[in-house]
Amino acid sequence: MRKTAWLAVGLVLTAVAVVGLVFRASDARLVERDEFLMGTLVQAKAFGRFAPGALEEVFARLREIEARMTINAPGSELGAVSDNAGKSPVTVSPDTFLVVKKAIDYATLTGGRFDPTIAPLVSLWHIGFPDARVPAPSEIAGALERVSYRNVLLDPAKSTIYLTEKGMGLDLGAIAKGFAVDEAIAILRKHRVTSALVSLGGNVSSLGAKADGKPWRVGIQDPLDTRGPYMAIVETTGDTLVTSGGYERFLEVDGKRYHHILDPDTGYPTESDLLSTTIVAGASIDADALSTSTFILGREKALHLLEDLPGTEAILIDKDRVVWVTSGLKKRLQIVDSSYTMAP
Ligand code: ADP
Ligand code: MG
Repeated sequence: MRKTAWLAVGLVLTAVAVVGLVFRASDARLVERDEFLMGTLVQAKAFGRFAPGALEEVFARLREIEARMTINAPGSELGAVSDNAGKSPVTVSPDTFLVVKKAIDYATLTGGRFDPTIAPLVSLWHIGFPDARVPAPSEIAGALERVSYRNVLLDPAKSTIYLTEKGMGLDLGAIAKGFAVDEAIAILRKHRVTSALVSLGGNVSSLGAKADGKPWRVGIQDPLDTRGPYMAIVETTGDTLVTSGGYERFLEVDGKRYHHILDPDTGYPTESDLLSTTIVAGASIDADALSTSTFILGREKALHLLEDLPGTEAILIDKDRVVWVTSGLKKRLQIVDSSYTMAP
């Protein structure tokens, strides 16, 4: 090869190296964005040059999902379904149809302990809002009559939802955030972001590892000291962690605590032997439904249910501060608070 040819090759190689460096440098750039949405703080972190545009679309999408599925503002699709209970089916977006369908699947799986028709009870207690109160037993009995996932008719061909009895209502508070996080991750992926973390209340999903190649480290909230530090850490590269607990939202009357996860059998907050449950899985919509479901079911039934769900791991913390971890997660969990012990 002639000297000039070698020079050309050298220049090209140098150029490739420089582009490589710039590319890597820009990939290490972190973009962070926080917004209050779906009743909670949404925090997103994404690395790389595609991150700003991707996050713009993520937050627009989250606002769209909130507008469709909220029960705390007028005009949502979910509100329309409830307003037409006992009257007529309502056409909804594919988003709402999908989430309601999933919720009904989990209602079936748990024998109705998880039930998206819990809305009349949720609005009666209104836990987490200033007008929360302990309802009279007669009010609870009245609301309970209107709670049953069996009275939800879904027509996939027409994308309609029909609540067959007057006074029924849908509440997707236990599952919609999971769907939203999955959508956020899908949008980041579509924009070719390879490293991101999205946190929406108790739902955290990661995309890839951090920019430095190390896994993301997600803290598990100490359920007995919710202002304090984390009691454990889980490393994640591309899955989701969803935690449910009685400590998240509650009402205190005469020294007794009433939390926001209600038992469709009794109409009162669930009497769980667990303080919190965390599900680790691929999809956050499933993990969200399952974190609430396992919390309601209690340790024994929860562990039994999880045995039949491949790719789904869990951390169940009981009232004796014993931590029950499914086998696939043991190596990834690090307990950092010695007042908690691992179950044998
Ligand atoms: P959070 O929304 O606090 O992260 P969860 O995912 O566990 O926690 O969902 C709790 C919410 O689910 C409640 O605030 C209420 O809207 C709804 N909910 C309460 N009880 C039930 C139930 N038995 N089945 C389905 N949803 C429920
Ligand atoms: Mg949930």
